Order: sequence, then structure tokens, then C-alpha cells
Amino acid sequence: MSKKTYERPFIQQLNTGSMNKFGTRTEFGPVDRIDNVSVKGLIKEYGSPLFVISESTMRSTYKNALRAFKTRYPKIQFAWSYKTNYINAVCNVFHQEGAWAEVVSIFEYQKAIRNGVPGDKIIFNGPEKSKEDLKTAVENNSLIHIDHFDELYMLAELLEGGSKKARVAIRMNMDTGVYPMWDRFGFNYENGQAWNAINKIMSHDEMILEGLHCHIGTYMLSANAYSVAAWKLCDLVNHTKLKWNHTIKYIDLGGGFASANTLKGSYLQGADIIPSFDDYAEAITSTVLNFGFKKEDLPLIILETGRAMVDDAGYLLGSVIANKTLSDGRRATIFDFGVNILFTAFWYNHKISPAQPFSHHTEETVCYGPLCMNIDVVNDNISLPLLNQGDNVVVHRVGAYNMTQWMQFIQMRPKVVLIDLKGDVHIIRENETVDTIEAPERKPEHLTKFSL
Ligand SMILES: *Cc1c(COP(=O)(O)O)cnc(C)c1O
Repeated sequence: MSKKTYERPFIQQLNTGSMNKFGTRTEFGPVDRIDNVSVKGLIKEYGSPLFVISESTMRSTYKNALRAFKTRYPKIQFAWSYKTNYINAVCNVFHQEGAWAEVVSIFEYQKAIRNGVPGDKIIFNGPEKSKEDLKTAVENNSLIHIDHFDELYMLAELLEGGSKKARVAIRMNMDTGVYPMWDRFGFNYENGQAWNAINKIMSHDEMILEGLHCHIGTYMLSANAYSVAAWKLCDLVNHTKLKWNHTIKYIDLGGGFASANTLKGSYLQGADIIPSFDDYAEAITSTVLNFGFKKEDLPLIILETGRAMVDDAGYLLGSVIANKTLSDGRRATIFDFGVNILFTAFWYNHKISPAQPFSHHTEETVCYGPLCMNIDVVNDNISLPLLNQGDNVVVHRVGAYNMTQWMQFIQMRPKVVLIDLKGDVHIIRENETVDTIEAPERKPEHLTKFSL
């Protein structure tokens, strides 16, 4: 029998009418293994904090999403949204599964090329593409998703007199019944701007209009919004056919599917309220199938889902630095990871599980990170069992956006490891060191010395 861990005594107010006299429990057991690999073993070997990615969860999520669409519609293509997680090993798992690359800057574009994605399988989105960037994309036969008229004119100027044609699509924004509307990207459907852009492109021989694109928002809780968006894209595919006798090959519904994380302020758990891949697929594919296209004119449907594809596969392991009591009596726990590497803590209530056995006593806890900054709050109110200094925790569903939006501030960024399908662990990104951080710095000669 192992020795029970010490827990300090505490007094808890009992409220009548709550679920039971011990409060609600967050957990039924500790999470001490990920894909059968020991959490404490990982921390011992690779340090704390540590990002862990499950290759098996990535692949099964991808397969599940693809199944939901392919069983309903004949022509489906996924493109991996680089900004969601552009660690090369992560991108390549999705490329191995068949995903193209979806990039929103020349930096991401270069990553996709270096990963070996063929130029004609790269979708170039985003509001910022320089003339040089567009030239590269044209030369590589990439799909250029035009965001605004200035980009359209710049591309027209670039192509003038040349022999090379550009494969283009326009990004559209529209009212899908979800507000606030994302109208800062692309051309508006309702006010005729999108139709105007299509006509301008169609009148240019150097541009081939291959697709229509939209990305209506992120963490979309309404599958119906995709049905509205798909209908509006189909409507302009149809108009283009009627006016120009030109078949638009694909419609790209972007990303935005919700992951099972729980949004701050949400009463219900994310997993209980989000639409499934099947719900989204049903909304999109039946709209396109019922629109009235002839079978040979059915457009390819492209999806750029990011968050929902990788969030579940990512974990953040960390350690308890200290416990303290706030002035109002609440318990606070300080972890060795903060908003510097857990950016999504600003809008999610991430589930946090202890990595060692615990008793059934839980207490409302404020979770802080290690930064010397007041904003470094990982969770401002979570029911956790008592944790001791040195205990470990697992933060769930952190695969999306944290490993791209993290910042080097006060602390250095930790290692990222991947657990492969055999249970072998690979470092896929090294931790930062003072050397790697200082490498791009330069000291002018007169600032190299001082005496104190
Ligand atoms: C960010 C982004 C995505 C991925 O969005 P998720 O909400 O993570 O699914 C897809 N397409 C475009 C154009 C994007 O900017």
C-alpha cells in the first residue's frame, strides 16, 4: 500500500442546494498517462512545462472529419491551416493524411514549400501578400485567394504582358446569422462587392477563377451558419456559370469548427454543446447537393479546419510551484506555465487534471502562471483537488494556437514532444535557451562594456 499524500486541513462552507455537500467534482481520477506514456516519466525526461502531442489523436480526428464529409459528398479536400499549429512534424502528419496546405503569410508559405507540399496544393489566404509574394505564388501555380481590390489590381499589374496565368479565388464575407459578422476579410456578398470582384477577374484573361472561399468565424457553435454560407457561395458559382459560361471548380468553406474546449462564461461544457463533424458536414453538403447543380458540375468542397482538428491532440504538462491564500481567503495555486505559453487561457476554461492520486476534497482555486504580471491567470475559478508543491498537472486540449501564438516573455518556451503510434516519444521542437534567444541580438561596440 502506498503512502497517502499529505493534504493540509481546510474549512469549507457548505451551501444548501448545491449538488452535494462536498461540491461538484472536476475529475474522477488522475491523468497519469497520455497514450500509455507516463506523464511523470515525460516530465522527468523532457522537463516541465512540456507540450505533448498525440499523433494517434491527430490522425483519428482527421479520419473522423474526413469520413463525415466523404460519406455525404463525392469531392472533398482538406487543407491544413498552418497558423493553427505550424510545427513541421504536426503539419506533416496532416499532409501524410492527404491535407493540402492553407497559409496566410509568405512565412507560412515557405514552411509549406520546405515541408515538400507541391506549389499547386498550397492555398494562399490572408490580407497581406506583397507583389513579390504573389509572384512566387503565380510561379508555383498556387491557389491565390484574393482578399481585397488592391490585391486584385496588384495581381493584374503583375500578370500584364506575361505568359503565366494565375489560379485565383476570392474570399467572400457574408451575413450567416452569426454576429458580429467577420466582414474585414474578403468581398461582401450582400452588397454586390463579391460579384463585382468576380466580374473583374472574369474579364482578365490572365486570371483563372477556380474557386470561391469564405471563413466565417472561429469556434462556430452554429452548423446552420455553414449552410447559409455554402448557399451564398453556390449562388455566385451559379451566376458565374450563367453570365460567363465558366465553371468554378471549388468552394472553400474555410475553418471555424468548434473544438470541445469550454468557452469562458459558458454554463455548459464545450463537449456537450458543440456540433459534431457530422453536423457541420450535413449542413454544408446537403446545401450544395440540393442547390441544383448537374452531377458533373458539382464543385469540389475544400475545408480548412484548424482548431477542431488538433486541439484534442495537444496537452500541456506542468508542475505546482506553490500554493497561497489570497486576501479574500481563496486558494491560489501557482504553476510553472502561464499565459506566455497558454495563450488560449484568455478565452477557454481549460480542463486541468492532477497527474497523481488525490482525495475527493476539492476547492475553488485561482490558477496563476509564473510570470511577474497581473494578467498571468491560467484559470480564475476552477474546482481542483488539493495540490502540493511539486505535484504535476495535465492541461487538456491545447493543440490549437498555443504553439503558434505563444510568446517569449520572462520565461523561455519549453520543448514540444510527439508520441507516435507505437508509443515512442520524439522531440519535435527544442526548448529555447539564452543562446537561441540572444542569437539575433547585436551589441554596438560602445555598449559592450561598463563598470559598476
Ligand atoms: C485561421 C483560419 C483557418 C482555421 O480556422 P479554425 O477556426 O482554427 O478552424 C482557416 N482558414 C482561414 C482563412 C483562416 O484564417
